[in-house]
Amino acid sequence: MTHSPVTIDLSEKALRANFRYLRKQIGTEPRISCVVKGNAYGHGIGSFVPLAEKIGVDHFSVFSAVEARQVLSSSNGSSEIMIMGYIDNEDLGWALSNNISFWVFELDRLEAAVSSARHTGKQARIHLELETGMNRTGFDMDELVRVLEIIRRNAAEVSVEGVCTHFSGAESIGNYLRIQNQIKKFRDMCTWLKNSGVEYGIRHTACSASALTYPETIMDMVRFGIALYGFWPSRETRIRHLLGTDGKSTVHQRDPLRRILRMKSKVMSTKIVAPGEFVGYGNSYQTAKRERLAAVPVGYSTGFARSLSNLGHVLIRGRRCKVTGIVNMSMIMVDVSHLGDVQKGEEVVIIGRNGNSCITVASFSDITTNLNYELLVRLPSEIPRMIVE
Ligand SMILES: *Cc1c(COP(=O)(O)O)cnc(C)c1O
Repeated sequence: MTHSPVTIDLSEKALRANFRYLRKQIGTEPRISCVVKGNAYGHGIGSFVPLAEKIGVDHFSVFSAVEARQVLSSSNGSSEIMIMGYIDNEDLGWALSNNISFWVFELDRLEAAVSSARHTGKQARIHLELETGMNRTGFDMDELVRVLEIIRRNAAEVSVEGVCTHFSGAESIGNYLRIQNQIKKFRDMCTWLKNSGVEYGIRHTACSASALTYPETIMDMVRFGIALYGFWPSRETRIRHLLGTDGKSTVHQRDPLRRILRMKSKVMSTKIVAPGEFVGYGNSYQTAKRERLAAVPVGYSTGFARSLSNLGHVLIRGRRCKVTGIVNMSMIMVDVSHLGDVQKGEEVVIIGRNGNSCITVASFSDITTNLNYELLVRLPSEIPRMIVE
């Protein structure tokens, strides 16, 4: 085995705690789908899926057929897989043969699903996406009439397992009215479908933010992404959720969500630099005194953004150490003068806890304007993921 300069630990205990907490929030009835698009939000599908199955997840949502294939090859075979976005018509046969369900939001895919079902002899398990105001994908009311015709005519080929929609930003109060309108429209469309005699299985609309702030969106299944990984969709979601509907503050409580991911590296080398010297490329950093610097083998090729040059921090021995100079492709220099004789091989925490200190993903967002989500999914898939207790 060769040793990677950067590794990511995934905490089973943290995932278990998040799952339990979210389950408590939505009650025992609704199904939980674990959203693993974007390489499981950067956690690594190959490692995350078996871990999730171990703690009780049995339903995964992905964006594309490529991701569905990754889940399929990592899964123990007992979980359901649902594609919410991209699948080429030519891959529908593969999806049917592997019992993978998918969203349908346009007639072309519906018709292709019918012919794939005829071809493979397997029924297509579809989820009808309804247009409620996101205006991205989804059937409008006037298209639904035609959809129903096709479904009725091909009842042996197509089974409507669910109806669904997605909200246009439930993590911000600024979208309150738009979300309320979406909820109402979804209900109206479901009623219309029911009155038209369509058996539509389950209704699912909620992502993390809407499940935690608008309980009426929970319905029969919740598609939890970011919260399962231990992150709040936004600061606002966190405050609104923890304040509760009665407005009684519980914000002082310990954060009920726990970060699963911890990213770490090791000191590769150290050196003493004389006062007044420039460090690394260019002259953006000059030593003010005699400084002890450590080279750490992370850089913008391993998820440490170049915009953190002279701004970011890492943790060594539980203490913050400042990035000195420009973030390179595979290396940064950090100031360890305050730590005494830091040695080659000592642990460096890039994201996560170390002693009494913590570097949060949110702290990167403060510096670089990246969303939580964006920073996570950009963690390269080549970094090894290890399951820890
Ligand atoms: C990403 C996604 C989710 C999960 O969203 P989170 O905010 O991460 O909980 C749910 N539904 C759809 C359609 C999505 O694309």
